[in-house]
Amino acid sequence: MHYRMEWRSFALTLLLNFSLAACGSDENTPTDQGISGPPGTGGNNTAGNAGNNNSSLGGSNAQGGETSAGQGGTSAGQGGTSAGQGGTSAGQGGTSAGQGGTSAGQGGTSAGQGGTSAGQGGTSAGQGGTSAGQGGTSAGQGGTGPMSCEPGRHLGDQSDDEEGFYQIKVNYVLPSDGIDEELDLNGKIEDSVKAWSQWFVAQTGGIAFRLDTCDGNLDIRFVRLSRTEAELKAKGVFIRDAIEEEMGQMGLLSSTKLESVYYGGDAAETCGSAAWPPALIGRVGAVYLKGTFSNPSIPPCASNPLGNVEQPTYFDFSMLHEIVHLLGFAPSCAPHHVLSGHVSDSPNDLMYAGSLPWNPTTLDVGNDDYFGANIPGCPDLSTSVFLSPLPANAQLPPGW
Ligand SMILES: [Zn+2]
Repeated sequence: MHYRMEWRSFALTLLLNFSLAACGSDENTPTDQGISGPPGTGGNNTAGNAGNNNSSLGGSNAQGGETSAGQGGTSAGQGGTSAGQGGTSAGQGGTSAGQGGTSAGQGGTSAGQGGTSAGQGGTSAGQGGTSAGQGGTSAGQGGTGPMSCEPGRHLGDQSDDEEGFYQIKVNYVLPSDGIDEELDLNGKIEDSVKAWSQWFVAQTGGIAFRLDTCDGNLDIRFVRLSRTEAELKAKGVFIRDAIEEEMGQMGLLSSTKLESVYYGGDAAETCGSAAWPPALIGRVGAVYLKGTFSNPSIPPCASNPLGNVEQPTYFDFSMLHEIVHLLGFAPSCAPHHVLSGHVSDSPNDLMYAGSLPWNPTTLDVGNDDYFGANIPGCPDLSTSVFLSPLPANAQLPPGW
């Protein structure tokens, strides 16, 4: 894959001839971390002909990065945002408190719950094993106020199963004129998140990313941006910043959440990018489902299918890769760190960047760079405050 460097002047060079030697290491000026270039038309990472993609990926990302200025504005907006969101969750607080106990076992039952805010009690009758517990709760709730978890599309944030914990929120984001494929409703995004989150758990031996859920179901938010697909694409490598900026202006950012964005529009020369603290503090990591490349030999991002629970595929790994960037990894102090947040020691590493085809199979190959590396003074993903269970001595992303 991928990766943009901060030197705009390198862009063309890298497009043609990306190499580790050329790209150096340890640069730590603000930069977005990008993924570009699907690994091949087959749409899965192991399916070959990814050969040249890394080069192109590297090249395509080899741009810009001076995004930190715009980001200050974003975070300013964040304060206001969380205030607004607080209001919501406060209203829902009573509900979620009562529901807390049952949510663990609820699984897919919230579908049945939804829409029934007036008559929560009645709904829960049909909920099977968990309904007993819930019945009691909802009786107390009567017709008062908002349901905490409803089926269907959500433009805001429903109540959080793990309120007060740092967590990752998933979003389906469209430009103003983007075609709504209902990926938040048809299970595609949910399946993708399941794929990468379950893969992560398998890699860590049981440690998960804490996801924003409501009654045990992924709480996906739908966001319709004000700018058109063309306007956003014209932002080039700063499309991520533009998305984050708009989400901030809409009051959708929270001080305790990172935003996993599935963007259903075109992007220039990339299939994904993220902030990388402390060099670039940001909330949004995105995959660009319809990203395209000027080099006709690089397949469009959309050649990769979305949503395959059994085994993560390109977009699933890409989303996870961007989230790991968002948390500040790989850190520049990692022994194999290269290219602003990547590692060089194996193309099988989730965070690899380099001249070989990216074929992710492993979280931190050798556990020597960013997960379980335990390098004194160097941040380690295993202690991130975004993990569940919460690690002892949990750490915020660097620079937060
Ligand atoms: Zn990357």
